[in-house]
Amino acid sequence: MKMNTRNKEACVVVFSGGQDSTTCLLWALKKYKEVVAVSFDYGQRHKAELDCAKEITDELNVEWHVMDMSLLNQLAPNSLTRSDIKVQEEAPADDVPNSVVDGRNMLFLTFAAVFAKQRGITDIITGVSQSDFSGYPDCRDVFIKSLNTTLNLAMDHTFCVETPLMWIDKADTWKLADDLGGLDMVRHKTLTCYNGIKGEGCGNCPSCKLRKEGYEKFLKKYKNS
Ligand code: ZN
Repeated sequence: MKMNTRNKEACVVVFSGGQDSTTCLLWALKKYKEVVAVSFDYGQRHKAELDCAKEITDELNVEWHVMDMSLLNQLAPNSLTRSDIKVQEEAPADDVPNSVVDGRNMLFLTFAAVFAKQRGITDIITGVSQSDFSGYPDCRDVFIKSLNTTLNLAMDHTFCVETPLMWIDKADTWKLADDLGGLDMVRHKTLTCYNGIKGEGCGNCPSCKLRKEGYEKFLKKYKNS
């Protein structure tokens, strides 16, 4: 039987090539000797996300894997995966935005955990945030804690799901990237725009607005500008 080894010096980062997960990747590189980034191909409209993820992991010299999750698009077609569904500019007050892919974080974290266990890795890093959760229920702390317990029970392994951004807003996420020496990288090489435009993005989609407001608040709060 294979030994259930535990490698606390390594971690797996769930990595999309966006602002939050890139900040988490930089955070992980300071904390762990070995960092493995995992991205998911789920038929997202913008393959550019995966191009950004490749570019960033190449630049940081991080081992990178892409997992096929096309099943997700089949199960939960939405505005991030289907070009015939338009991204809403504003989330409806009484509902989650149509960019929500049900269970996405749960599935990503579960697959990342299966991958991590094979390498004897227990620590899994994800950039979810309750402060900016924008209606995505599987970004909440209570869900992450619940899943962590479930993963431990499911695989008889002591996982530790780390969420460095859970309680900070976008302004402080920019501050963290800056403290980690990655402000330029996060500003120019990541993709968070729902319309697939790298860096500053389109400026109009909900994700660009959140990113821009956060950046302006960061400048005001920490840079006096
Ligand atoms: Zn945008």
